[in-house]
Amino acid sequence: VFQLSLPLNFLGTVYRELRQSLIDMDTLFNLQSVGTAIKDSPTAKPLALTKGGEIRFENVSFGYHPDRPIFRDVSFTIPAGKKVGIVGPSGCGKSTVFRLLFRFYEPGQGKIFIDGQELHDIELESLRREIGVVPQETPLFHSDILHNIRYGRLDATDDEVKEAARLANVSKTIESLPDKWQTKVGERGMMISGGEKQRMAVARVLLKDPKILFFDEATSALDSTTEVDLMRNINQTLLSKARTSIFIAHRLKTVADADLLIVLKDGYVAEQGTHSQLMAREDGLYRSMWDQQNEMIHEQLEELEEADDA
Ligand code: ATP
Repeated sequence: VFQLSLPLNFLGTVYRELRQSLIDMDTLFNLQSVGTAIKDSPTAKPLALTKGGEIRFENVSFGYHPDRPIFRDVSFTIPAGKKVGIVGPSGCGKSTVFRLLFRFYEPGQGKIFIDGQELHDIELESLRREIGVVPQETPLFHSDILHNIRYGRLDATDDEVKEAARLANVSKTIESLPDKWQTKVGERGMMISGGEKQRMAVARVLLKDPKILFFDEATSALDSTTEVDLMRNINQTLLSKARTSIFIAHRLKTVADADLLIVLKDGYVAEQGTHSQLMAREDGLYRSMWDQQNEMIHEQLEELEEADDA
């Protein structure tokens, strides 16, 4: 009994943690064997990305608790092959968009479509196979680095893993470690910085090569130079191919170049448009968030200058 319950408990814990964060789980664990509440409908078919990954939320209402709605009748379209930013105040439901799309939860009302196929009618496994995620917190397993990156695509060769790491700008760091690719990471393993972990997540996604990509911007893991480097990298590697990419962004400058910005607030889509369209709205929410973030940056710079002068 002990032998059986231990891994099940462990997987249960992992599942709960994974469900909460934006994690690319299908390649990490086969969740269906862990027992998710959500099952395929008998008529479900594999996802066919006939339009290249267009995502549509149609009149979606959702709350984790019935008395606390997160989305109220929300509709939006994320066009295929475009870069889209989802922004809004903390807790507005940015990560929830992803959790619904991955079917960790189901909307109370409304429908979600990918290339015209409703999520209900898509086999869960194929849905999750087509979506890649660079989460805020990259889970590393107690195993070596080579294996950790290979989780992106289990049949990738060592050379493919190393090439993905090179593109994600993390191979030099790995090769400077005493055990190089064989370095054990994860629990009780070598400490890896948040930035390096996120680069490994980029390498995993490069191996997976999905049509739809979610990037969950870290709030604190990266310092700004590392962040700028990482974003440049992502633009050059992941986004050099046509794929629908959705950025959940805290720093608006990360997504200012997006083809579309969706601004969420109080359960609604408050605004949507490009950066310049949203900046043109005198009393717009995006514009006020942008001004606020710039003000904060200026204040921080002034403080630094004052500290330098002192
Ligand atoms: P942030 O910018 O702070 O990362 P967010 O916009 O991504 O936030 P979500 O993570 O989507 O917000 O959460 C939306 C709301 O739902 C928050 O108020 C959060 O506390 C709540 N919430 C999230 N997950 C759960 C859950 N599993 N059970 C209950 N409430 C939850």
